Amino acid sequence: RAKANRQGMYCFYEPKMDQSEEMRLAMELDLRQALAKDQLEVFYQPIAEISSGKTIGYEALVRWLHPVRGYISPAIFIPMAEEIGLITAIGEWVLRRACSDAANWSDTVSISVNVSTVQLKYGHIARTVEGALESSGLAPSRLILELTESALVGDNADTLKILTELKRFGVCLALDDFGTGYSSLSYLRNFPFDKVKIDKSFIDEINDNPDCLAIVEAIVRLCGILKMGTTAEGVETQAQLDLLASIGCELVQGYLIGRPMPLNAPSGPDRPHVSAA
Ligand code: C2E
Ligand code: MG
Ligand code: MG
Ligand code: MG
Repeated sequence: RAKANRQGMYCFYEPKMDQSEEMRLAMELDLRQALAKDQLEVFYQPIAEISSGKTIGYEALVRWLHPVRGYISPAIFIPMAEEIGLITAIGEWVLRRACSDAANWSDTVSISVNVSTVQLKYGHIARTVEGALESSGLAPSRLILELTESALVGDNADTLKILTELKRFGVCLALDDFGTGYSSLSYLRNFPFDKVKIDKSFIDEINDNPDCLAIVEAIVRLCGILKMGTTAEGVETQAQLDLLASIGCELVQGYLIGRPMPLNAPSGPDRPHVSAA
């Protein structure tokens, strides 16, 4: 495909780029069929309370099992789904599946579901959430919707209206990947978030980089003052967990606690000893 460059002249992709462009188009075609062909799955990753060590919830993470390529990361196909207008359908499917799965767990266990910025802006998210809660029978207080900061740039009045509507259902709102992107402290003040998830990139370095530790500590304290809980993402080592405990971080999620796993895995959410925690 030819593309206009800045000067308005046409330049052509190198053969190598043609190939990857072709691959992308093929993948998009496959993605359009993925839902109908039942190739999407929801994995669940535990979130634990540091003080008690108990699993208090799970994050739903979508997986695409491609018939030829195997598992494809959501980091690849979610942006693609956003681009080609599939995210609303995929997001609704994940939400419904996660809510109906979680409705069978212990009623002290919460379920976190990622909501794309595109869904929030164009996807009738309030109606979707209402429908998923109704059909699953899940108590709204057990549902946490995770949004990234990118959802908050742009028309703030519109976004605030939608978030307020969601809060009225009784669901919780979490600010995901905090510290990356456009991080603005005014988001914490202007939008009704209940929780903040501190991005993995900060957690990665807390034991080696005093600046990183200072930032994480400041976020935890600020959120404490604003009555918001903090979750540390991507915790992989005991040393990270110990440090997070010492600065008063409330919740942790990461490979140290558990990897994302299918519902019926030996230690998955549907095993009584875990869901009863
Ligand atoms: P996220 O919401 O920040 O989810 C956390 C990601 O970090 C997940 O990647 C998880 O598997 C990974 N992770 C958790 N603990 C660790 C750890 O200790 N070490 C390492 N290296 N990684 C860890 P995943 O499942 O590949 O998902 C990537 C992103 O894709 C998610 O980031 C989220 O933004 C998006 N995503 C996933 N499922 C959905 C969905 O249903 N809807 C939407 N809109 N986005 C989704
Ligand atoms: Mg998330
Ligand atoms: Mg996250
Ligand atoms: Mg993240």
